[in-house]
Amino acid sequence: MNTEHIKITDIVAEENDLARAASILREGGLVVFPTETVYGLGGDATRDEAAKKIYAAKGRPSDNPLIIHIANPADAEAYAVTNELYYRLAKAFMPGPLTVILPRKETIPTSTTGGLDSVAVRCPAHPVAHKLIELCGFPIAAPSANLSGKPSPTSAAHVAQDMDGRVDMIIDGGESEIGLESTIVKIADDGLILLRPGGITCDALSLVCDNVTVADAVLHQLAENERPLSPGMKYRHYAPTAPLVLLSGNDADVLAYIQQETAARKCAVLCYNEEFDALNNCILFPIGQKNDLASQAHKLFAALRDADGTDAEIIYAHLPPQSGLGLALYNRLIRAAAHTIKKV
Ligand code: AMP
Ligand code: MG
Repeated sequence: MNTEHIKITDIVAEENDLARAASILREGGLVVFPTETVYGLGGDATRDEAAKKIYAAKGRPSDNPLIIHIANPADAEAYAVTNELYYRLAKAFMPGPLTVILPRKETIPTSTTGGLDSVAVRCPAHPVAHKLIELCGFPIAAPSANLSGKPSPTSAAHVAQDMDGRVDMIIDGGESEIGLESTIVKIADDGLILLRPGGITCDALSLVCDNVTVADAVLHQLAENERPLSPGMKYRHYAPTAPLVLLSGNDADVLAYIQQETAARKCAVLCYNEEFDALNNCILFPIGQKNDLASQAHKLFAALRDADGTDAEIIYAHLPPQSGLGLALYNRLIRAAAHTIKKV
C-alpha cells in the first residue's frame, strides 16, 4: 500500500488536508494521527472492517480492545452507557489523557472492543485529533501507531518506521507532548480502578473520586493463567532487542555499577541529564533531570527506540518512583524490562 504523508501545523489553513484524512476514514481506510499522548492508528470505530484492518496493520492480537476517540465528552452517549462519575471525570480531565471504560452500546461492534461488552472512551486534547474526529462525525478507534511489541511512537518519524506501507495516511503533527499512553480507569460500583497509569495521576483522580484503587497488574507481573482486568495487561508491549535492566539503589551506586559494567560490555543508558558528564564509554540517552518526570515521560519511548537501534548489548535505566507521573514511567519500564530489576 502507498502511504500518503502529510504535515499539519495549522488546522484552519490546512483543513482541506484534514478533510481528505476524514474521507479516507469514512471509506474504511486507516489514518495515523497525532495526539497529546502518543500517535494513534485510526479507523472508523463503528465499522467491523476498520477494526480488523487496524489489528492487521499493527500485528496486534484481536482480543486486545481499541480505545474509541470522541470529539466531546457528551458524544459518549451514543456509544456507551455513561453515569454521573463519568461526567465528573469529563469535567475535570477532558479533553485530555484519560480513557474511561464504560458499558458498550450496540453502535460499537465487538470487533472494536476485542469481544468485550465494555468500551474504552477518550476525548483527546490535541487540536489535530480533535478536528479530525469532528470532521468524521463518528468515533475513531485508535491504538498506538506502533507495530505490536515496539514502543509507542511519539513522532511521525517513528510512526513511519513501523507503519509506512501499512496505512493509507500518516499525519505529522509534531512530537507528542506527554509521550506516554493515556491513563485508563474503569468505573466500578464503589469507585475507580486504575488499569493503566498515564498523564492523569492517581492524586489527580483522587480529587474527583474518593476511592481509587490500582489494579495489581499495574505494578506486578501477572501470574500465569491470571485473567487481567484489561486485556492489554497480559502483553509485554514494548520489547527492546537488547535486554533492558532497571537499576534500583542510590544514584551514586547506580552510576558506579554502570561504570563497572561498561568495562565488560557495550551499554546504552537512559540517564538523567545531570549524569551525562559522569558516564563514559557507554551510549547515553539523557531523558530529563531526575526531578523532571514530565520530561522523562516525554522522552522515554524515543530513547528506548533509539537505544534499540544501537549495537548495545544491554540497556540500563533508573527504576522510577511509584508516585505521581513516576507510576506511569514505572509501569512502562517494568514491562519493557520484563520485570528485570537489579538492586545495586
Ligand atoms: P493502546 O490502544 O495501545 O493504547 O491500548 C489500549 C489499552 O486499553 C489496551 O491495553 C486495552 O487492554 C485497554 N482497553 C481498551 N478497551 C478496554 C475495555 N473495554 N476494557 C478494559 N481495557 C480496555
Ligand atoms: Mg499500545
